[in-house]
Amino acid sequence: MSKKIVIVGHGLAGSVLAHTLLGLNQDVVVLEADLPHAATQVSAGLINPFIGPKLNIPEDFLPCMRANERFFDKIELKSSINFLEKIQLIRVFQSQEQKNKWNKSSELFKINTITQSECLEMGIDSKNGAGITRAWKLNSQEFISYSRQLLSDQKRYNTELFDATKWQHCEVVFCEGFRAKLNPWFKDLPFSPAQGDVLRIQSNYRFNASNGTWHLPENQSSQAIIGSTWKHEDVESGATLCARNEILEKLTFLPDLKYGEILDHQSGVRSGTQDRQPILGTHPVIKNYHIFNGFGSRGCTTIALSAREMADLIIRNTPLPIHKDMVRFLGKS
Ligand SMILES: Cc1cc2nc3c(=O)[nH]c(=O)nc-3n(C[C@H](O)[C@H](O)[C@H](O)COP(=O)(O)OP(=O)(O)OC[C@H]3O[C@@H](n4cnc5c(N)ncnc54)[C@H](O)[C@@H]3O)c2cc1C
Repeated sequence: MSKKIVIVGHGLAGSVLAHTLLGLNQDVVVLEADLPHAATQVSAGLINPFIGPKLNIPEDFLPCMRANERFFDKIELKSSINFLEKIQLIRVFQSQEQKNKWNKSSELFKINTITQSECLEMGIDSKNGAGITRAWKLNSQEFISYSRQLLSDQKRYNTELFDATKWQHCEVVFCEGFRAKLNPWFKDLPFSPAQGDVLRIQSNYRFNASNGTWHLPENQSSQAIIGSTWKHEDVESGATLCARNEILEKLTFLPDLKYGEILDHQSGVRSGTQDRQPILGTHPVIKNYHIFNGFGSRGCTTIALSAREMADLIIRNTPLPIHKDMVRFLGKS
């Protein structure tokens, strides 16, 4: 008989891991304390192959997307809800270097390259032009509310904080997002949390566009999500006026955008890590305690594949990829 697996935290990481383990016939219970500043609650859900100012395609992008499609195809069949959507994203080049990098990169995710005047026709001000790329949008808020309902119906969802005395004989997987820094067993790992703000605005502009700061129209509404910002200090400050102004200023590449009303302004904290890789693994002494964390700004891309690797570790003791395994930090202070 397998032991009960307790998942602490029902953000995107905890929820995807829970369903991955349930799909492998494990006995799972999820604890979620509804703490403020959770990342998943504000995530834009953008999955973009070309990341950062260098427009690098991460090495693991294809396996990550295969894992996402495998995971969400199954859930979508069961729920009849489309959580993972294919989109086109206009990646506005901020410099000639970005344009050169785009021209040299793999054709796999490119749809088209557009000139300055073609950009203008699409309402974009960019002297370096832009690239249209294949991308995806994961509706993570809708997924976690669906998951919460499903797990509650199966009596597998408890609204509570983790209490070590209650779950002594279980496997415990901590999926606490940036709150891992308060976890007595894993707090010394090199986390690097970063706050980010997002705005919901009235917008009739219908293209997904980004120059690093993105504008993502919402389906069937004249609203869009725009963001985001990065702040490593005072990460629990909540949404700030400074971040709001920064987002609006960076979107001036969309000159026709009429901001109308700002309908909502929220912030959350990304559970980043110093080497920008997730942190997965088993506690070196307390062998039934595990961590599944550190997904930073790419959780929507990487969590499904990592959940499969984490499940294999817990059930079959299969080693993790070394760049994700927490053992890479053991012995370092
Ligand atoms: C502004 C912003 C925009 C983003 N946009 C994107 C994007 O476009 N694409 C992308 O891929 N990623 C994006 N991200 C990152 C993405 O949101 C995260 O990678 C992902 O959501 C992390 O999920 P998580 O489950 O690890 O953490 P969280 O979502 O923070 O979840 C942790 C959960 O654990 C609970 N918890 C913590 N401690 C305990 C405890 N002791 N007991 C019980 N419950 C506990 C908390 O209440 C919380 O619900 C964005 C993040 C931010 C902040």
